[in-house]
Amino acid sequence: MSTNHMDVTSTEGTGCPHSHKASLVLENGELAGDFLSRHFESCKVCNSKLSKLKNERKFFLKQIPFVSTPSEVKQIFEAESDEFESKIKRRVFQLKKKKVREVNKHVWGFFFDLKDAVLSKPVILSLFVVFAVWSCINFL
Ligand SMILES: [Zn+2]
Repeated sequence: MSTNHMDVTSTEGTGCPHSHKASLVLENGELAGDFLSRHFESCKVCNSKLSKLKNERKFFLKQIPFVSTPSEVKQIFEAESDEFESKIKRRVFQLKKKKVREVNKHVWGFFFDLKDAVLSKPVILSLFVVFAVWSCINFL
């Protein structure tokens, strides 16, 4: 919170520097923090902003029409989505088959690259050195 005294006094009367956090307080309640929730209780500007937001929220929720969908609409929708789903499943299955082939190709390519890299002389040599040092430490 980096609001200094000057900022607070300069916005006094016209508003409060915290009033824009009203929606945060409304959404998250306790998560907004002790300071903010206490402030919103005591500050007139923020308090009225919060109650205004709450009223708007109530009004908005009343406007949502599909809380109770007519059963006919539901049935139509379900029938269509069944058909749609089977189409999608078939498509996904084809895509997957194709994808698996491609992935296999990549994986094999990767392993061949890896094999070449692992079996290259410098790598074997350094592995040998590491192994030699390791066995010296452990067995001598
Ligand atoms: Zn305030």
